[in-house]
Amino acid sequence: MNVPLLDLKSQYAGIKQDIQMVLEEVCAEQSFILGAHVQKLEQTLASYIGTDHAIGVASGSDALLLSLMEIGIQPGDRVVTVPFTFFASAGVISRLHARPVFVDVTSDTFNLDPTRLADILTHDVKAILPVHLFGQCADMETIIRIADEQGIPVIEDACQAIGAARNGVQAGAFGRTGCFSFFPSKNLGGFGDGGLIATRDPLVAERLQLLRVHGSRSEYHHHLIGMNSRLDALQAAILQVKFQHLAQWTAKRQAHAASYQQLFHACNLDERLTLPIVASGNSHVYNQFTIRTPQRDELSAYLTQHGIGNRIYYPVPLHLQECYQALGYHKGDFPVSEQLSQEVLSLPIYPELTPDQLQYVVDTIKNFFDRH
Ligand SMILES: *Cc1c(COP(=O)(O)O)cnc(C)c1O
Repeated sequence: MNVPLLDLKSQYAGIKQDIQMVLEEVCAEQSFILGAHVQKLEQTLASYIGTDHAIGVASGSDALLLSLMEIGIQPGDRVVTVPFTFFASAGVISRLHARPVFVDVTSDTFNLDPTRLADILTHDVKAILPVHLFGQCADMETIIRIADEQGIPVIEDACQAIGAARNGVQAGAFGRTGCFSFFPSKNLGGFGDGGLIATRDPLVAERLQLLRVHGSRSEYHHHLIGMNSRLDALQAAILQVKFQHLAQWTAKRQAHAASYQQLFHACNLDERLTLPIVASGNSHVYNQFTIRTPQRDELSAYLTQHGIGNRIYYPVPLHLQECYQALGYHKGDFPVSEQLSQEVLSLPIYPELTPDQLQYVVDTIKNFFDRH
């Protein structure tokens, strides 16, 4: 049996007719930049996320970058984020010649550990950028409380967490802005790059709308120094079709996660591997289903050998990346992130997985531990 890590072709087969229709529509219109399709998607997602405003941009990375630009992050400013995440969370900080200041994550949710936050909030910290990793929210109540006490804005990296919620609030609706990615492997993925910024603040929304078009309020009159970062009409039209299925796809991911939990518990592997832990109050959307085991590399090779897609998100924590040597961090600075990078392994969790495939993944992992 073959179980890929993700199967976008089977997803496409189910929505092909609807997608072809909107592609035809946009092609007939020959209007590709911003416009009505983008506006409609922005309204749809703002109301879904529960912010009044949403701004379509060219990628999740740009959503983060523009959010930092909107705050006015300057060279030399410090911005707090986590070392256990995709590179973009910190890369955008460096792009503005600001300095990423890392704070370790918790070993259960893999998200920013707020108990370590207060100590590093010096006066030159100008933003906090928590990540909702793998589809589960960070402890936003605590993070926002600490940030508010110091008057520091919070930018959420919700790129992996569209539809996730915490105590009734959606990912992306807690902070000054919430940043989303439509990279094809995300829970709501386009046919290429795309991103979105959600915000409750109309003034922030207005500035972001300018920043994505070179700061231009009316053509060739530039109010701010921005950049070119827009969501394509084609992507917006495709995403509008796919959004109609998001709730159902998310429910399937959650059902698969529940099946994994049940099947793994029946195997008595509790001492060999750790399953995902959902923090109280959280609704997890499982962009990834990530287990932990000290025998990670052997298990990964074994799964690959048996036709099961698997991937290490992420093998090198950001403070130990070559390009960040100049920040002066060392091995041992963030022990939780470092241990996770040695032990995590993501398994197939996409909506179209069948019960047989799930069973095969669990059986194969059971066989591995029986032999090793
Ligand atoms: C995907 C992702 C991004 C970047 O999104 P792109 O659309 O690929 O630029 C940023 N942060 C996290 C945590 C991501 O998973």
